[in-house]
Amino acid sequence: MKLVEQPELLDALPEPTRDAPWRVLVSGCLAGWACGVDGTDYGMKDALAWLAPLPTVQLVPFCPEDVGLGTPRTMPDIHGGDGFDVLDGRARVLDERGHDLTAGMLAGAHAMLATARELAVHFAILTDMSAACGSVVISDGCRFDAPRRYRRGVGVATALLLRAGIPVVSQRDFATLARVRARLEPGYVGDPDARDHHEHPWVLVHLPR
Ligand code: SF4
Repeated sequence: MKLVEQPELLDALPEPTRDAPWRVLVSGCLAGWACGVDGTDYGMKDALAWLAPLPTVQLVPFCPEDVGLGTPRTMPDIHGGDGFDVLDGRARVLDERGHDLTAGMLAGAHAMLATARELAVHFAILTDMSAACGSVVISDGCRFDAPRRYRRGVGVATALLLRAGIPVVSQRDFATLARVRARLEPGYVGDPDARDHHEHPWVLVHLPR
């Protein structure tokens, strides 16, 4: 389930403490790992800067594309659906050269799920727009095509985590992440105008339901 759609899942989590911190699976690039297709962290090492130092959290960074495809790598994008469609064999993952990366993407997703289960993570914070880690918006076909096409949907690893019952939230779901932070930092008051990604004006205009 997505935490954005079911915030009560967050409310139901046990109180996080130093002795029993929340274990949070995070996209490797959000933790500053140089695991992007180009061997960088996409400049996102500070995206969760507020989260990492908290003593009541144990981050579990993981990059499914690095595990399944290696780094650096060509650009994977989903053609013909989203991550659920890839899991069900209705869509494929291709790179910008047309090479089929579906098997590697599935291998990386399953490795991520295995890690999540092994460490019994409470939920996951994943990088949106990724063909593996996306949870709100992904590219519709090759992102290097002009104009780039987008669609609502999830990446391959995200789909597998969701099907396994692991709650997911994106790094752009600012309202929900503020709720996460309020649980972790008693007294924290978030921006009342914070929005989740699906509420962003760009998403509402370009990807109407
Ligand atoms: S697959 Fe996920 S963790 Fe890896 S670089 Fe892409 S968004 Fe980051």
